[in-house]
Amino acid sequence: MPRKLSYSSLSVYSACPAKWHFKYVLKIPEEPKHYFSFGKAVHSALERMYDQPYLPGIELLLEAYDNAWSSAGYKKKEDEAKARKQGEAMIRAFYQQNAPTWQAPIGTELKFDFRINDIQVIGVIDRIDGLGNGDLHIIDYKTGKPLEEGREIDDEQLTMYQLAADMLGIGKATSLSLVHVPSGRWHTAPRHSDELVEKLKDKIVDTAEAIDTGRFEAKPSEDACKWCDYKRMCSAWGPE
Ligand code: SF4
Repeated sequence: MPRKLSYSSLSVYSACPAKWHFKYVLKIPEEPKHYFSFGKAVHSALERMYDQPYLPGIELLLEAYDNAWSSAGYKKKEDEAKARKQGEAMIRAFYQQNAPTWQAPIGTELKFDFRINDIQVIGVIDRIDGLGNGDLHIIDYKTGKPLEEGREIDDEQLTMYQLAADMLGIGKATSLSLVHVPSGRWHTAPRHSDELVEKLKDKIVDTAEAIDTGRFEAKPSEDACKWCDYKRMCSAWGPE
């Protein structure tokens, strides 16, 4: 089995190993989700704001948003139209809030690929800014529900991005932000501790080992099962 993990596959395994098996081993496709389509379109607009050496006009962001828009996952036309308007308002507000302090970033949508032991760890960082003193500010956009207070202090995704910047020699991230785009709220934390980084590395190694040894037990919970497309084939819900 390929020893390749991303933050999202690691989270799926943590939430429910059986779901990981359905998704990554059996490769049973999931239903399209409107919140993924929405997030992707908003991310495209925000990427456009920072992917060139000058501040673009808002119309370029909206063009990127329109081009990236997808109807996938919307059950009703009215719901899609409402979401599309909300997304546009969100982009306009983000632009207004952030244009005055715009600076060219170190990069946007930065792909990474590094190894812990022989495990390949992959992902994409939304944006990395330079802090002027050689240090980095890692930024991840969120377009869903409000974030819990203090999540940024030990958020595993941010730890993984900090580790990626270290491993790939991009630089030392001393500031880490989750940006809740719908509210315009920045949740910023200082560099995560070595202890958090070691904890994440252990989790990556333990998860890869569990996968190698075929541990795919169902782990039902209200949160994990609520949106799970594999319920009808899951042993926790009926079929063997
Ligand atoms: S329905 Fe629940 S227990 Fe079953 S695979 Fe999905 S998340 Fe896991």
